[in-house]
Formats: sequence, structure tokens, C-alpha cells
Amino acid sequence: MLTNNIIVRNPSNYVLIRGYSPVADMMLIVLCGILLLILREIFIKKSKSFIIFKVSIALLCAAALSNTCFYYTAVNFNNDLLLHIFKAFYHITLMLVSSLYITYMMMLIKLPKKETRIITSASYAILIIGCTAEIMCPILRYSFYRSEDGEWVRNMIVNPFNVSYILFMIVLLVIMLRYRRRIPEKLLKVLLVTEFICVAIVVTASCYGHTSFTATTALLPILDILYMVHANVYSLKTGALNASSFDEYLSQTTAGSKIYYMCLKFDTDIEFTMPDELGKLFYSFWRKHFKKALLFNPATGFFVLAVDSTNIDNVAQLGLDLVSTDFRKHFNNYRIPYRIVLFEHLDFCTNLRQFYDVFSYFTDSMPVNSYMACDEPDYRAYRNMMYVKSQLRDIYLNGSLDDERVIVYCQPVHNVATGRFDTAESLMRLSLPDTGMVYPDVFIPLAEKYGYIHKLSMIILNKTCREIHRLNDEGYLFSRISVNLSIHELAEEHFIDEFKDIVRRNNVSFESIAVELTESRNDTEYEIVAELVRQFRQLGVCTYLDDFGTGYSNFDRILSLKLDVVKFDRSLLLMTDNDSNSEFILDYFSSAFEKLGYRILYEGVETDAQEAICIAGHADYLQGYKFSKPVPIEDLSKFFTKNS
Ligand code: C2E
Ligand code: CA
Ligand code: CA
Repeated sequence: MLTNNIIVRNPSNYVLIRGYSPVADMMLIVLCGILLLILREIFIKKSKSFIIFKVSIALLCAAALSNTCFYYTAVNFNNDLLLHIFKAFYHITLMLVSSLYITYMMMLIKLPKKETRIITSASYAILIIGCTAEIMCPILRYSFYRSEDGEWVRNMIVNPFNVSYILFMIVLLVIMLRYRRRIPEKLLKVLLVTEFICVAIVVTASCYGHTSFTATTALLPILDILYMVHANVYSLKTGALNASSFDEYLSQTTAGSKIYYMCLKFDTDIEFTMPDELGKLFYSFWRKHFKKALLFNPATGFFVLAVDSTNIDNVAQLGLDLVSTDFRKHFNNYRIPYRIVLFEHLDFCTNLRQFYDVFSYFTDSMPVNSYMACDEPDYRAYRNMMYVKSQLRDIYLNGSLDDERVIVYCQPVHNVATGRFDTAESLMRLSLPDTGMVYPDVFIPLAEKYGYIHKLSMIILNKTCREIHRLNDEGYLFSRISVNLSIHELAEEHFIDEFKDIVRRNNVSFESIAVELTESRNDTEYEIVAELVRQFRQLGVCTYLDDFGTGYSNFDRILSLKLDVVKFDRSLLLMTDNDSNSEFILDYFSSAFEKLGYRILYEGVETDAQEAICIAGHADYLQGYKFSKPVPIEDLSKFFTKNS
């Protein structure tokens, strides 16, 4: 036995050190010390559960230290009070570790409040009774004390520490088994195996008369959790932390904190082409100037440097200077297209998805190989976009075809043959409580991107039909009003049934409605459009090809669709202002469409000169500010003649 060779100053203390070796405790102190160092240097967590986790390691370290002191005192001194203090301290810290472990587990598995209260009370009760008993035992001469005849009496089985330790283990086991579904399956498996190993170690050690490993076993589940729950993975290639670390960092960064993000995104998928040295270069470039900054690499080719700018004056300018000098000097050699955006921590940026949304919003309007620092107007624009998006979502979920936030404007269309207005186009506006009128260039792309456009179109259709009904009732003469459909919504299930239903419910004829479709972008879309056009034709709904001249212009596809009206985009007219060939091109296209039986509508006619060009270019209809800007649909009647 190890202690055999040790000379004990007070021979009666020999019984205390028999079966004990300080090696395990010393190892434990070293391991806990290293863990704390690692946590301090690389870990970014500030959550409550993580603090508990750190405190547990520190307590474990203190326990091992006090047990070593106990051993050292027993060997070298003749001081019973010190021995009692170290022993009690050792046991109390271990009990604290157990109770913290239980609190930690409850947080990890997000136990409901009621259960948390019950288990916390039980754990506090065990802790308080255990600690009190631990302190009182030597005074009441129970469990561990020096008897009258100077010999140590130790009850190894029933002492306050062992009893509370077993009780803690029971509570823990109950939590783990009762709420096993809340613990990730793999973590539970590893924890149970670890607990089993811990018990095996303690039992085996005590069979050999050893007591040195009790505290060490408490470290093992901590290692599991450190690795499986709290690991922050560093990439060797770039020196950066990964996506989940960044997500966690964002969730912990509070609103109003002075964190500044410098984000870089390479444009291509550079997983296979990004040389290692590029990652390292990026790392050194930033770290040279912002020593305490954290670098994240949340996705391939996407880097974020989070700088705490509390003590840095004008961090944005410093960042921009670095980009324009160091960054460009190094990165231009690689010729990988990039975008760089610098912005501060925003209260609506608390997870990776939101962060990426903000970043993409800013980069969407940036050319490649460019950089910018955002400021208040940019943040406001983003907030505004988010607001519009949330309102669109609300309109969509609300589901009402009469939603008052969706407003119909109409632009009357001039009929060249009759010289009158007899058709019009419905154009959507939003009237939102916080921002007032919002125009299509802001909300149509959002509605299309997030799948809300179909609901909006149906609202416009419904309101347009209602107005057609009113105009009919009041005896106005007009042929039809057109509504715009988005290419994104045409594949919508039951589209045509919904369309028919709305028109019928408003008691208007299908002939008084027209639909404007844009060119399809691929064969699948083409098939869908072709089928819809066939169905609209059967119903008697007039079909318009919108924005001719801007799209993908697969002429074969367009011609085989056979719509009723083609709308020449404003850009074709603008072209005639500075290009002498363009009137020839306009004539070429308009003749072709005319021969195929299309009627031709020119959009965006603003001047007399443009009108003349359109009329020379086979125009049947003219639409533009020259005749009228879009007006609220209620005012449309002013443009139509009345049945006398
Ligand atoms: P669009 O279908 O090409 O509509 C014509 C746009 O040109 C309208 O802009 C109109 O106000 C504008 N415009 C008309 N005459 C002139 C002119 O002489 N000069 C100039 N510079 N512009 C003129 P608006 O209302 O802002 O709509 C923009 C686009 O938003 C529309 O282009 C259409 O693509 C989309 N949109 C509008 N309403 C709806 C809708 O209800 N559903 C769908 N899916 N899209 C819509
Ligand atoms: Ca249109
Ligand atoms: Ca158009």
C-alpha cells in the first residue's frame, strides 16, 4: 500500500491516510485547472447553465485541494480542528457539486416550472441537512471523531456525506429516467454509461480499501457534457468558430451591446477552391488589428468577425480602412468575388437565421467585390422591410378577401380606334397602419419570395370584380379590367377554381376580367402557363402578355401561347429616344404580333412623340402617364362613358 512508507507524525492519524493516495486528487486539480483555462480562453458562452457548469468545475477543484490538504495535515500535523475543517469542506463542496449538477440537468432538459420547484426544494433540503450534519457530527461526536482514548472513530458507511450523495444520485436518476425524452438520446446514453463507470470505480476502489477516486468520478459526467453540449468547434483551416457557436453567441449578445460585425462572403461555392492559406490570411488580417475579436465561419465562404467596440473609436471607419488597404492587397490575388458588410449588433439579430437575413438584405443591393458600412438609414430600411413582411404575413394568415390594407388603384387604357377609355389595369398598393402607402416595388418581391403573393392577387381580383359589378350597375360602358398575376402563383393548387369562384360570387361576367401574365422562365413554367391560358380562354377571360421586351424572350414559346393582347414594355419605348434602329425593331415585332392576331398595347406612354411612335407601331391601346396616372379604383368611373 502506498501509505506504507509514509512517516506519520501522529501515529493515531495513520488510520486516516490508510487507503488514500493524493495522486488522484492532484490529477483532478490539474485537470480542473486545465479545463477552466480552456473555458476561459476559447469558450464564448455566458448562459446561466454554462456558468453553473464552470462553477462546478471550480468547486471540484476546491474539493480535491481540500482533500489533499486533509491528507497533508494528517501526515504532518497534530491538529484535529484543521482535519475536521478540511474534511467538512471536502464533503460540502462535493455536495454542492452534486446539487449544482441537478440544477444544471434541470436547465438542460428545460424542466417545467412546477417540477423544477419540487426538485430544487428536494435538492436544497438534502444539501442543507447534509451540510449541517457534516458540521455537527464532530461536535456531537458522531460518524467521524476522536474518541476519549485518542483513537479516530470513522463510520465509513453511514456518514452524512455518503447518505446525501446517495440521495442526490437517486434524484438525478429519477430526473434522467423520468424525463429521458427531453435529453438528447445520445447524451443520455453516454451519461448513463459514465454513471455506471463511476459506480464501478468507487466500488472497485473500496474493495481494495481505496477512497481516493470519489471526487475524480464527479469529473467524468462533466467531461461528457463539456464535449457533447458545450463544445465550440474551431476550424483549423481558418481558425474560426463554427455555425452553432455563432448562433449561441448571437443569442447571448444583448440588445444595446457594442458589438460590431465585419462580415465577408465569397460569392462562389469555394469549398473546393478556397486554399488553406486564404483562410489563415483572413484570420491574421483581422486579428492583427482586433486582438480580442472572435472570428466565426458560419457557412462555407462566409466569415464574421465580432468586435467588442466599447473601447474602439469609430470602429466602422477603422474596419473600412482595413478592408480598403490590407484586405484588397492580399485578396485581389485570389480573384474570388466577395462582398463585405460592416454593421452593428441589432436587437432583431439574435440568431444565425436572422443574422443571415440582415446580411443578405444588405448585400442584395451591392455589386460584387464591394464593401460598405451600414448606418441608421440602412437599419431603418431593414426594419421597414421586416414590418412590411410581417404585415404581408398577417394579411395572408388573416385570409380575408376584403382586407382593408390591400388597395386597388387603376390605370385607364386609351383605345386608339375609338379614342376613348374602355379598359383599365388594376395595380396593387398596401396601406399599412405604421407606414401608410407602400408601392409594389417594395412589397411584390417580398410577397413573391415568401409565398404571400397569391392571396394578394385574389384580394385584388375580388375587389376589382366588386368594382366591375358597381360600374355595370351604374351603367358605365367599358370592355374589361385586367389584373396582374405573378408567375410564382400559377402552380398554386385549385388556382382556376378559386379564380372562377371569386368572379362568380361577385356576379360579373368572365369577359369583363382580363389577366396579365409575364413570360415563363423555363419549360415547366411554360407548361403551367399554357394550360392556364387554355382554361382562361374557355371561360372567356381575356389574356395579356405583360412586359414584353424585358423578359427572357424565348420567342418560340411566346408565340405558341396565343394570348389576346401583348403589352410592350415601357423600356421598348424609351429605347426609341436614343437609338434610330429601335423604331425598326418595334415595327418588326408589332407587325409579327399583329399578323398572329394579337392586339398591341404600349405601356408607359408619357409624351406626344411617344404616342406617335406607338401609333406608327400598330398600337391598339395606349397606357401611360400621358393619359392618366393610376387612380384609386373608385375614381375610375370618371374615365368611362355612361350608358345614356
Ligand atoms: P406593370 O404590370 O408593368 O405595371 C405598370 C407599372 O408602370 C405601374 O407601376 C404603373 O404605375 C407604371 N406606369 C404606368 N404608366 C407609366 C408611365 O407613363 N411612366 C412610368 N414611368 N410608369 C408608368 P406600379 O403600379 O408601381 O406597379 C409596378 C409593378 O408591380 C407592375 O408592373 C406589376 O409587375 C407589379 N404589380 C402591381 N400590382 C400588382 C398586382 O396586383 N399583382 C401582381 N402580381 N403584380 C403587381
Ligand atoms: Ca401589368
Ligand atoms: Ca407591364
